[in-house]
Amino acid sequence: MSEYSLEVIRDLVNRKLPWYVLKEMMSAPKDKDRFDKYIKVLQEKVPWKERILLPIHEHLYIVEKNGEAIVKAKCGYEFGDYRENWLLKTLIYVRDTPEKFREVYPILATHEPKLQELREHICPGCGAMLHVYGINPGGMVNFLFLPDLGSFYKDWLGKPIPGVKDQSKGVQDKTIEMIKKWVQEEKK
Ligand SMILES: [Zn+2]
Repeated sequence: MSEYSLEVIRDLVNRKLPWYVLKEMMSAPKDKDRFDKYIKVLQEKVPWKERILLPIHEHLYIVEKNGEAIVKAKCGYEFGDYRENWLLKTLIYVRDTPEKFREVYPILATHEPKLQELREHICPGCGAMLHVYGINPGGMVNFLFLPDLGSFYKDWLGKPIPGVKDQSKGVQDKTIEMIKKWVQEEKK
């Protein structure tokens, strides 16, 4: 079992490790507390106090706030329940015309707008680009990453999700309920 210090994990996260150290780490069995050290390093890099439960990517984290697991951006913007698709709560710019494609693609490498559109999801808190993908026009906004937080903590890490009231296991997608709520509010 390998044993890496917090300093080494910090250098790993900050991409400062030389290749020969990185290669050795990748090939070795993971140390038991690697995840805890990793979270500790991530926590040092964000400007707020909520406890990180799991990162989604470099700008987004699932955190614990008032007993709930929510998605929070590095800039502080909060997207709410992690089981609701946060992509639908971003600012969305859709490239769906030859003119819009040509702003980012060379002229002969562009898409056919009738077959594909390009969606750019932008953080409402700071304007950071959070996700980009090509999809058929009108295609569903799928989850980028929907973890089973209950099973991950209980079965993999052997402990409860810190501070979170709902410890249930299983992948739970609450996006449809969220959309239904939006529709109801729109009707009022
Ligand atoms: Zn942001």
